[in-house]
This record gives sequence, structure tokens and C-alpha cells, in this order.
Amino acid sequence: MILGLDLGGTKLLAARVDDDGALVETRRWPTGRALSPAHFLELLGEVARWAGPVRAAGLGFPGLVDAGRGHARSSVMLDGWRDVPIATQAEAVLGVPIRVDNDVNAAALAELHVRRRAGEQVDDLVLVALGTGIGGAVVLDGRLHRGRAGLAGEIGHVVVEATHGPPCRCGRRGCLGALAPGEIFLGGLENGPAERAVEALGQGLASVLNVLDPGLLVLGGGVVDRLEGLVARVADATRRAAMAEIGADVRIERAIAGAAAGAWGAALLAVAAPAGGLSR
Ligand SMILES: [Zn+2]
Repeated sequence: MILGLDLGGTKLLAARVDDDGALVETRRWPTGRALSPAHFLELLGEVARWAGPVRAAGLGFPGLVDAGRGHARSSVMLDGWRDVPIATQAEAVLGVPIRVDNDVNAAALAELHVRRRAGEQVDDLVLVALGTGIGGAVVLDGRLHRGRAGLAGEIGHVVVEATHGPPCRCGRRGCLGALAPGEIFLGGLENGPAERAVEALGQGLASVLNVLDPGLLVLGGGVVDRLEGLVARVADATRRAAMAEIGADVRIERAIAGAAAGAWGAALLAVAAPAGGLSR
């Protein structure tokens, strides 16, 4: 058995995943942004008692991660997490090796896994998580592409309106995350702000597709789950904005790995090759 953990701004979701990579059981613990590393480690003791014996564990963290060293570098969703050597600390609680990665990276690994199990021939995909903010992950040749500093896939900071766009928490203007935050869709899709956000998403995602040509763009996250029709609209806007050849060919689909994707993928990460790949 493998333990997967998905830490978010409001909850810790744990998953028990068997040695064939199948999701067995999940459990949710409510948390909040005040959850400090010390509180997390306390909670982890409780999770370990629920999970029973496991041979490895993985953690998806909502922020910047140094996956090589197992450090949580920072998070905009959790207070007090700055360059925390969380892998070493969690290993001391769990007694098994633990891998740490960004939560959207973990979800992308689950998405790859689920699609392959369903018989899809997929090696490359871009996952975009639309929630309060926008997260992204890139899988190339069946492996997570983390980049030199682990920052690859920060699609929420693709700039679409540099001059007149709203300020972003990164200090610049007109980032995708600032133009299309989740709350803009609370009133549905049939209004000006939501329509402009969809167009902005199309512009930003088209740039990503033009650079990577992944063949598959997957949209997930809480906003996609709540809003019927959003994927079709974003897909349409993205195709219109992309290079014609890329827009015509790319599949743009809703994520299929489900609400436990982050925890499931974190477990897969724990037993994946060190580079974050899944064997076929
Ligand atoms: Zn930004």
C-alpha cells in the first residue's frame, strides 16, 4: 500500500493506493491557512494511524516545491511555510520515504495514469487547474517537466495584458491568474467579466500550446467541476487563439482523474522513477 497526501488551503486529503496504482480509499481532514508545518506533522500522525502500514508516501503541496531536496519553498495558501524540509520531517513521522512535489504536478501524474489505464496512448499533456488561482503542470514523454528551479508549468503567470491588466500577486500585471480568478465565474458564464476571463484563458493557453504542442490539454480544478460548459467555451477560445494547425489538432478535455487526483498522484509519485515518470 502507498499513501498519497494532497494538502490544500482548506483540507488535507489522504489516499490509500495499492501496489498496482489503483485508488483504494480516501479520507479528508479539514484544515485552514493557519496550518503550520508543526500542525501538519501532528495531523500526519493521525493520518498514519488511518492509513495503516504503507511502503512509501507522497505529498502534493500547494505552492513552490524543491522536489529534489523535498523542501516546501513557499505557498500563497498556507501561512508559515518557507523553505521547510518537509520530506525529512514527514519521514520521521511516517517511517517510510516520502516524495514531495507541487500539488498540480501530482494531479497531472494521476491524470496520465488514469488515461493510460483506460487505454489512451498519451505521453504529453498539459494540465491546467482552475480554482481560486490557476495552476499548471507539464508532462512530456510520460514524465513531469519541472524545469531547472521546479517552476515549470506556472501557467497562472502567463501574461496576457501587460499594460492594462489587473495586478497579480507576483508583482506584474495581466497574468492569467489575475484575469481569470475562480470567483469571476461565481455568477455563471453569461456575463461580461466571465466572457472576458474565458477569452483571456484562451489567449494564455494558446501560447502554452504554441510552445509545447502537447496534443492534449486537460482542464481541471474546482471551477471546472462546478461550471457546466466552461471547458467547451475555454476550448473554443483557445482554438481560435492558437496557431491554426495546433488549434485544429489539440484535444481539450475535462480532467477525468477526479477530486482525489492530487492525493492519488502523490502516491504514484512516491513509487515513480526519480524523474517523476510513469512506466507504460
Ligand atoms: Zn503573476
